Amino acid sequence: MIVEMRTGASQDAIDAVVDRARSLGLDIQLNQGTDKTVVALLGSNTGQLPTDTFAVLPEVESVTRIMKPYKLASREFRETDSIVSIDDIEIGGKRVVVMAGPCAVESQEQLMEAARAVQGAGASILRGGAFKPRTSPFSFQGLEAEGLELLAAARENLGMPVITEVVDPGDVDLVAASADILQVGSRNMQNFALLTNAGRSRRPVVLKRGFSCTITEWLTAADYLLAGGNNQVILCERGIRTFEDSTRFSLDIGAIPVVKKYSHLPVIVDPSHAAGHYSLVPAIARAAVAAGADGLLIEVHPNPKEALVDGLQSLTPSDFSRLMTELRAIAESIGRYI
Ligand code: PEP
Ligand code: MN
Repeated sequence: MIVEMRTGASQDAIDAVVDRARSLGLDIQLNQGTDKTVVALLGSNTGQLPTDTFAVLPEVESVTRIMKPYKLASREFRETDSIVSIDDIEIGGKRVVVMAGPCAVESQEQLMEAARAVQGAGASILRGGAFKPRTSPFSFQGLEAEGLELLAAARENLGMPVITEVVDPGDVDLVAASADILQVGSRNMQNFALLTNAGRSRRPVVLKRGFSCTITEWLTAADYLLAGGNNQVILCERGIRTFEDSTRFSLDIGAIPVVKKYSHLPVIVDPSHAAGHYSLVPAIARAAVAAGADGLLIEVHPNPKEALVDGLQSLTPSDFSRLMTELRAIAESIGRYI
């Protein structure tokens, strides 16, 4: 249930709503805008409570039930777009933020070469997996703690924030110590222990869409992060399972406007895992920017043929650089920039 206070409502009136909610055993989250405060009442029994319980309180403008399963991620809770800031980079504003780098951190040389190349081409955030969630236990699992150190060194060296995946719920603090953004992978979108711990972190989180999950399930998973007090959540569409097998996954381009309609959270697109092949990545990336994505997460490897993971879908630095030029033109044509 959402309680919207009148414009300029007094602190006493807001406290009265909060106190009544707490006395009924409900959790609350406040969205304090510049002139309006919205109080979300959270709990499994809000459905049974009459809206009048709160509508009668002073300076309450309206009380609305949110019929969707997700609450904090919804536009009802926050009408205006959320912006996630990493240093001076804003995700969810006019800029289309490009995050790029190798699928996995393999060595210092490989990471630094990729990082210099993507930074030179205009990417603002470096990606690289240290913990890799692999479908097979016999595949390369990442350099783990050593990979985190290499990412932290690259960040120091180049002044470029880094994003990396956290797989184990017990590793959130470890990964957060080296990374500027935590990535929750597609296979872990509904790992609720991981989401709960990442929700307690003060690092921004990129929540990838589970490849067999609906948009509603995805936004509801985002509520786990938001409920923990972490409001720096970025959604990432990365392709879903369909009957089509010409691409690795089917990029759900419609998810971008759907998320924008129902949620205030920024949404970025990973064209690499959707495409599965480097030749398909540029077209999908261009379409994502045209459709309104707030950013891209792209795999780039200095030598894709030698890559330990996802070489087939990794762009070379020169292909990436060409793509960036194309993306700039598309961003400008819709009033944005890269
Ligand atoms: C990745 O970004 O390297 C990755 C494993 O992606 P996903 O979780 O989307 O499969
Ligand atoms: Mn990958």
